[in-house]
Amino acid sequence: MTERKLPPDLHRDTLALRTAIAPSQYGEHSETMYLTSSFVQPDAATAARRFAQEEEGYMYTRVGNPTVTSMEMRLAALEGTEAAIATSSGMAAILLLGMGLLRAGDHVVCSQSVFGSTIRLFSGEFAKFGIETTYVPQSDVAAWAAALRPNTKLLFAETPTNPLTDVCDIQALADVAHGAGAKLAVDNCFCSPALQQPVRFGADYVIHSGTKYLDGQGRVMAGAICCSQKDVEQIFLPITRTAGMVLSPFNAWVVLKGMETLSVRMDAQCANALALATWLQGQPQVARVHYPGLASHPQHALAMRQQSGRGGPVLAFEVKNADAVSARANAFHVIDSTRVCSITTNLGDTKTTICHPASTSHARITEAQRQAAGVVQGLIRVAVGLEHIDDLKADLLRGLNSLKA
Ligand SMILES: *Cc1c(COP(=O)(O)O)cnc(C)c1O
Repeated sequence: MTERKLPPDLHRDTLALRTAIAPSQYGEHSETMYLTSSFVQPDAATAARRFAQEEEGYMYTRVGNPTVTSMEMRLAALEGTEAAIATSSGMAAILLLGMGLLRAGDHVVCSQSVFGSTIRLFSGEFAKFGIETTYVPQSDVAAWAAALRPNTKLLFAETPTNPLTDVCDIQALADVAHGAGAKLAVDNCFCSPALQQPVRFGADYVIHSGTKYLDGQGRVMAGAICCSQKDVEQIFLPITRTAGMVLSPFNAWVVLKGMETLSVRMDAQCANALALATWLQGQPQVARVHYPGLASHPQHALAMRQQSGRGGPVLAFEVKNADAVSARANAFHVIDSTRVCSITTNLGDTKTTICHPASTSHARITEAQRQAAGVVQGLIRVAVGLEHIDDLKADLLRGLNSLKA
């Protein structure tokens, strides 16, 4: 697949716009969407060589598609990895990671505050195949080290976490993993490569839900693993071409175009999030704000180092309350008083979304587990978009101002 020719050492913004396969004979400026399930072969002998993997060439979209290749090249360029392999969703990327790296009898150490479906995948699905997972507090490096066993093959982290924005030290976890002969995978959905490139800190695999900030406008499902070329070719490609959790060319095209504006969107959304978090801290009805961009965040210094000096686009805050019952009622009141923010658990959109984690994303765990995780009834999560900051403040103030004491 001929890559578009580019000079070396380009900046990330340039790579986000320019990395793709070369245009077709027509010289199209916007990358073509190759919406086709199969590719016509020039002759039977060429087809035979391609099926024998002796010659490069597209045959069938489950095995490879030029639009998907462009999306993979562009994402790998942004993450600073040799290669990437696209999947039908973020969860499919984690499924592919597990299928590629784990065997019956293997052990995984995972942060206890990763995305809920990730926990269900490890504990519900992988457990069926004899893979055991131990969960540890995200930012406690000693707990990760203590959980290691001789059969530990993978450490899985997500930073910052949802909804409390806990940050973990990627370099420290990479050292723990490599010291034990295991690999480190980092789910990089919240920061995206515009802010954080986990391989720079020693991670072996970077997981993406392209559904979030890579698309950026809430249109399609997509996922990817970013890693070495060798791992794509020898571990993951043999699985996707057989098991079929591949990305649709249409979705690949949407994400490919979305990545062109990733860094300007993230700059603007992070600036909005910091302004909103700072303002929320000064509101009398707000008990606490969780945001890595604030000096009050327990891992503020680490976050600034790891996330290119930015706190990310997601924050959470707790409304003041007397008890858990009034906390929930107060949180619901603030959420229901908004007229701009969308009430949805999705994130990664240019439109601001607001949700109550304790009754939605974290509803399927016990109250004791929720308390342990810090997902209290008064907690509200905001994934900050591109609206004018004054409209977002006014949207939250409406509910905060009319809270019953
Ligand atoms: C959304 C999300 C996923 C799953 O991605 P899908 O594309 O919805 O399958 C995984 N990790 C994180 C952190 C997410 O936010």
